[in-house]
Amino acid sequence: MNSKTLNPVDLKMTEDWEGNNAAFTCPSCSKVFLVSGMIHKKGRACPACGLAIAYVEGGRKSGGSARIEWATSE
Ligand SMILES: [Zn+2]
Repeated sequence: MNSKTLNPVDLKMTEDWEGNNAAFTCPSCSKVFLVSGMIHKKGRACPACGLAIAYVEGGRKSGGSARIEWATSE
C-alpha cells in the first residue's frame, strides 16, 4: 500500500485543503475528488475507480491530517 500525506503549508497543484475538506488527485486514474472530515469519517474511496481512499482528520490550520492511500500495481 502506498500513501501520501498532504503538507498543510506546501500543497501541490493537484491538491487542495481548506478547513477539514481536502481535494486529492487519484494516483490510479487521475480523478480529482473531495473528502470531508465531517462527512467521510471512514475515508472516501475514489468515485471513479475505487482503487484509492483518502482520509481527512481535523483542520489544515489546527494540526489535522490529510492523506491518500492506494494499492501498489503488482
Ligand atoms: Zn481513481
